[in-house]
Amino acid sequence: MGTVVYINGRILSKEQAVISVFDHALLYGDGVFEGIRAYNGKAFRLEAHLERLYESAHAIALEIPLSRQEMADAVRQTLEASGGEASYIRLIVTRGVGDLGLDPQKCGRPQVIIIADRIELYPAELYQRGLRTVTVATMRNHPNALNPRIKSLNYLNNILAKIEALRSGCTEAIMLNKDGFVAECTGDNIFIVKGKALLTPPEHAGILVGVTRQVVMELAGAAGVTPAEKDLSRFDLYVADECFLTGTAAEIVPVVSIDGRDIGKGRPGPVTLRLRELFREQTSRNGE
Ligand code: PMP
Repeated sequence: MGTVVYINGRILSKEQAVISVFDHALLYGDGVFEGIRAYNGKAFRLEAHLERLYESAHAIALEIPLSRQEMADAVRQTLEASGGEASYIRLIVTRGVGDLGLDPQKCGRPQVIIIADRIELYPAELYQRGLRTVTVATMRNHPNALNPRIKSLNYLNNILAKIEALRSGCTEAIMLNKDGFVAECTGDNIFIVKGKALLTPPEHAGILVGVTRQVVMELAGAAGVTPAEKDLSRFDLYVADECFLTGTAAEIVPVVSIDGRDIGKGRPGPVTLRLRELFREQTSRNGE
């Protein structure tokens, strides 16, 4: 079947899958979402993704019209409808159809959309060679303005940072927070290896608490490093032995250059490669 889309209980083809232009998701970016990988035809870490989705929705006072169990069933149903071909699911809950004002109380029922498709975030050779990145001037959203822990449909902050990176000839942007510490990348969390320590910015740095970030922290011991959350400066990044990004779509991607400085030896490091192997082993056992 390939790409299929669930909208409010109906499974549709890509062409049939349309929603109203009056939905506040389009008009205001008002809604929440999740990106979930499927390995062996089954969603990976579905519980963690649903937990984050329902927390994001609660934080923006959006009531999802399905229970968690119903949502998990809908994800499975959509994956099955794709004939096991989909490797990526985009789960979206919109505020619903309203008028042209921004009052969410005037919106009807929130819409639940589940897209089952494929995704390739970075070309395969970038995983061998590693990414070149820059820190950008666009600050990650201040948590008291729009908390990055909310995975909302409003990604303009991230997109502006991505544009800065692309225009300076790099693939990815590293975003700092209001205090100048490292927060995260535009769609990924960031880690560094320094000696035997595996360090990543804490929740209070203003990040989306990544599901892949959690998996990597669980795998750290087996890769010979001790995970810890720590405020990181740009200096910490420059002098790291290794650096990599984590995300559902990206999985684990090595970073070899930041602001024109080589990281470590300027090629993917041994801990990063070992973590990639361990991650692959774990995902290949998904659903067993
Ligand atoms: N930060 C941001 C801003 C993201 O969009 C994502 C991707 N969802 C992540 C981090 C990584 O989170 P996860 O590992 O759950 O995909």
